Amino acid sequence: MTKRTIGGAVIGYGGMGNFHSEKMQTVDGIELIGVYDIDPKQNELAKSRGIHAYASREELLADPRIDLVTVATPNDVHKEIVIAALAAGKNVICEKPVAMNSAELDEMIAAANKYGKLFTVHQNRRWDEDYLTVKKIFDEKQLGSIYRIESRVHGSRGIPSGWREEKEHGGGMVLDWGVHLLDQMLTMMGDAKLLSLYATLTNITNDECDDGFTVLAKFDNGVEWIAEVGTCNYIEMPRWYAFGDSGSVIIRNWDCEGEIAKIYNRGEDDVPPIQAGAGLTRTMAPRNEKTVEKFPVEKVKSDWAEYYKNVIATLHGEAEIVVTHDQQRRLMKLLEAVFESARKGEVIHF
Ligand code: NAD
Repeated sequence: MTKRTIGGAVIGYGGMGNFHSEKMQTVDGIELIGVYDIDPKQNELAKSRGIHAYASREELLADPRIDLVTVATPNDVHKEIVIAALAAGKNVICEKPVAMNSAELDEMIAAANKYGKLFTVHQNRRWDEDYLTVKKIFDEKQLGSIYRIESRVHGSRGIPSGWREEKEHGGGMVLDWGVHLLDQMLTMMGDAKLLSLYATLTNITNDECDDGFTVLAKFDNGVEWIAEVGTCNYIEMPRWYAFGDSGSVIIRNWDCEGEIAKIYNRGEDDVPPIQAGAGLTRTMAPRNEKTVEKFPVEKVKSDWAEYYKNVIATLHGEAEIVVTHDQQRRLMKLLEAVFESARKGEVIHF
């Protein structure tokens, strides 16, 4: 039996709305029926690309051909639009961050349960190749037992102008990149319990919203995780850095350029001290090359379309949704803890 094609629509036709429209036009099993944006210019842009643009959100939600609505508006209006779409009997993908706080998320989940519809979040960076590469190294214990993971994203242009600079719309880097980096952290740590977290925010280029942050999180599997975002850094830092008890890895960029070093003889004999600055050290002397093996990182291949494929398969009853309500609740609580820790200057214990 041939499967029904899912009718898709996008609300909010800006940067990400365009991304989702393209996915709905290219992924098998889904067809883009149309879009709606509150800004008439964006609707005209859609039409100029041959995409049907509805005159209103109500008109879009009343179209029975639409099974799935993706919400790609600024963060402060996610809740209202998601609940309206669920109430109209649509399945919903919401852009990240799903909501402004966990209370809003609870209302959205309650609506999904009430109307019996799928409601999930576009945590697309779970399919990033750099992330999957580090996850494989972690899962396969390629560095022995990993005790520290550092995940960084740095730019130099401050917060992009527009709603991302304004608190009332859910601006700032914690709610932007933080959502991705911390979702990756929770997903990679799996069942490990988060013990504590300490966070600081920066306001170098913007007084109203955080333009960067550092989070230090400790898990009961022994991993200490640093997640860091900056928007005022003029020298590139590695995307990933991780240390295990028998090796280290550095991944410099999204293309996964980097290397792994594995040791096979931890205790070296007769290491001569080296001159380091104004002193001598044996502790920090370079390793004897014979005790360490270095090789390039092997990139794990991935495809962002997998996200839509999972949603489509779930709607056909053939798969479990990958991005779940429980994961989103945990993530939103974590984001709240980040803001609380930064505000109080305190470690939050869980
Ligand atoms: P954008 O400003 O480019 O686009 C937002 C669009 O929504 C605008 O065209 C605006 O006119 C429209 N809009 C605003 N209020 C609306 C309403 N009430 N009804 C209908 N349309 C409305 O922003 P963007 O970069 O596309 O971000 C949109 C969402 O996508 C945000 O939640 C953002 O965090 C998220 N995002 C996710 C990723 C990712 O990788 N998953 C990347 C970028 C942005």
